[in-house]
Amino acid sequence: MIHRLHRIVQEVNRAPDIDTALVLITESLTRDLTADACTIFLARKDDPEVMVLQACSGLNPAIVGKVELRMGQGVIGTIAARAEAMNLTNAPAHKKFLLVPESGEADFPILLGVPIIAHRDVLGVISVQRAENAFNEDEEAYLTTLAAQLANSIERAESLGRLTTQQTSHMVKGVAGAPGMAIGVAMVLNRGVNLDSVPDKKTSDIDSELDSFRKAVSKVCEELMLQAEKMRDHLPEEECALFLAYAQMLSGGSLIDDTEKSINAGNWAPSSWRETVEQHAYVFSQMEDPYLAERANDIRDLGVRVLRKLMLEQSTFLDFPDQTILVGDEVTATDLADVPPDCLSGIISAHGSSSSHVAILAHALGIPAVMGVPNLPVKQLDGVKLVVDGYNGSAFINPDKLVLDEYNQYLEEENAIEQDLMGLKNESAVTIDKHRVSLMVNSGLMSDHTPSLRSGAEGVGLYRTEIPFQVRDRFPSEEEQYQIYRNVLETFKGMPVVLRTLDVGGDKPLSYFPINEANPFLGWRGVRITLDHPEIFITQVRAMIRANLGINNLEILLPMISGKAELDDSLFLINRVRDEIEEECGEKIGLPKIGAMIEVPSAVYQIDDICKLVDFVSIGTNDLTQYLLAVDRNNENVADLYSSLHPAVLKAMCQIVRGALDNDTPVSVCGELAGDPLGVMALLGMGIDSLSMSVGSLLRAKKVILSFSYSELTEMLQQALQMPDASMIREMYAGKLDERGLGGLIRAGK
Ligand code: PEP
Ligand code: MG
Repeated sequence: MIHRLHRIVQEVNRAPDIDTALVLITESLTRDLTADACTIFLARKDDPEVMVLQACSGLNPAIVGKVELRMGQGVIGTIAARAEAMNLTNAPAHKKFLLVPESGEADFPILLGVPIIAHRDVLGVISVQRAENAFNEDEEAYLTTLAAQLANSIERAESLGRLTTQQTSHMVKGVAGAPGMAIGVAMVLNRGVNLDSVPDKKTSDIDSELDSFRKAVSKVCEELMLQAEKMRDHLPEEECALFLAYAQMLSGGSLIDDTEKSINAGNWAPSSWRETVEQHAYVFSQMEDPYLAERANDIRDLGVRVLRKLMLEQSTFLDFPDQTILVGDEVTATDLADVPPDCLSGIISAHGSSSSHVAILAHALGIPAVMGVPNLPVKQLDGVKLVVDGYNGSAFINPDKLVLDEYNQYLEEENAIEQDLMGLKNESAVTIDKHRVSLMVNSGLMSDHTPSLRSGAEGVGLYRTEIPFQVRDRFPSEEEQYQIYRNVLETFKGMPVVLRTLDVGGDKPLSYFPINEANPFLGWRGVRITLDHPEIFITQVRAMIRANLGINNLEILLPMISGKAELDDSLFLINRVRDEIEEECGEKIGLPKIGAMIEVPSAVYQIDDICKLVDFVSIGTNDLTQYLLAVDRNNENVADLYSSLHPAVLKAMCQIVRGALDNDTPVSVCGELAGDPLGVMALLGMGIDSLSMSVGSLLRAKKVILSFSYSELTEMLQQALQMPDASMIREMYAGKLDERGLGGLIRAGK
């Protein structure tokens, strides 16, 4: 059963267009379920209340595209409206039955239909029919499982169909990653290590593509021969023969011919190779003989070897369009470093959400990002014109003139707002009733601090030290770290700079320190790692304290504190390092201020104990939200549930602020909520007077602070705390912002 299921899903995923995919499904189902007929109805894109018969087998093919049913109309419409399967032994006897004339279905009264649902939307209905023999429970379960799996494939095939056949403008929806809008050209990431990630590209230089393909193949051939030779003494003859068989496959024959044919048709070598390898592997995988079916893996293995060489031969990948929109299945923070900063205009990632680190990085760089776009046809997007709307999490593929005009207009309005905000850079952030708020920037993600200083930042509230660790292939030395920290402390001389100790783990991996865990966010992360590896912690703190000598604006922040013991251990090590450096330089050194991030729920309930040990606390709303709501901050499937304005998160923050005030411990916020205009309103209402955010949010936050009184924000928070969910709270704050004529701060133009 599972084998059949996989085969259909695989076939559908490989189909060149949606019509072929649907025909494949109907034919396979008729065969596998020994049915007499099979139909697929899909909801119309322009009117989802109406479904159209898109494919059938066993019935009159002339009715395809002609039969339409409204939701609730007929048995099929009822299945869709109720989002529930129906298994009928006599469909014509059902009160909703509607005979489709000239279809031929009158001969097949037994009907089993299931809805096709993706992300709560009913996409359509698949049904099978028979003249006799009712469908049993197993068959119903099979069809239900298949429909659930096919939902994504159908969405993807539809999206792809619109992209390749009609070239028309269409919108895809994900989640808002980083605010802003951009119009540009897609550059699909290609890490060249697996066939799946190779994007389609056209080439105008066929000769050079053929040349690099042939070079790559001949290099792999040579390697294989050498390996066979080396292994001869260690492996039996037949195992060595495998290497020779691989080399043989590359010496001519259909693998090579088909790839060259595709290159000659104007496709670049890597995608031509990918297609050929996939086709050959597919043919093998369908063979009944398990030995031969297993050869599909050999072909893919060979495919990857050649691909790696091919990518080394390729230089075309480095041609970034002026307005590059970086597109990938999973764009990562380090991918951004590959794009020249002047070219990067936007990001679209099929996976991830607004609090993924790449989204935070994009926000810091002022690059709009759309994350978690389900079924994005990534491989086919290279070179395609795109619009990125990072405010509402949507993107337009092949935007038409109407869409482009609309977005050009928004961009103009956005520029006007930015110009207007620049006038605030030298003003202090004070509420109408004279409450002063200190506004700092989050940094560590980029070396250029000029924009922060230009925006009037009053210091660095969070310097994420992990990025310099992530972009290297080994731990940075004390000296390398010293230079980095010294630079930022000097740049912000006279202002506080909060350097956070290493917070890797979770979704911030280090290539040279692999951690394999089933639940990385609940695993070895942040201070848990650095306390288990005091040598890493000590080197980092040494670099920080040495960098602070003679400047004296360093504050050290500890991430992922979940209890008192972690603080005790960290403080012990920091004190020891300070003593060591004092001894080395022969003079007294004051201990920098030390703070704890409050981002783990246990820390909320231990705020009193924590405050007694530290000089300040900083609320990490990104992780606090993730852990309080049990919603993975990276997972687009649950992105709708992730909101730092959730009443539970607000209540937890109120508790933190109360605890900090009781202990006279300064409290600030450095999570993304601090840079969200609505978040600013909520946080001020709690009595928080220090916020740290991406530089691009700073002047917007200042504008909000200047426009409200502290007392009215306190009242608004009391209202918010009575509300049952985040969307009501968001709406309430957005309404208040709008009343002041500041709606443009959260969405220019709309
Ligand atoms: C947070 O969790 O809110 C935070 C600021 O830290 P990071 O996003 O780096 O985990
Ligand atoms: Mg965090």
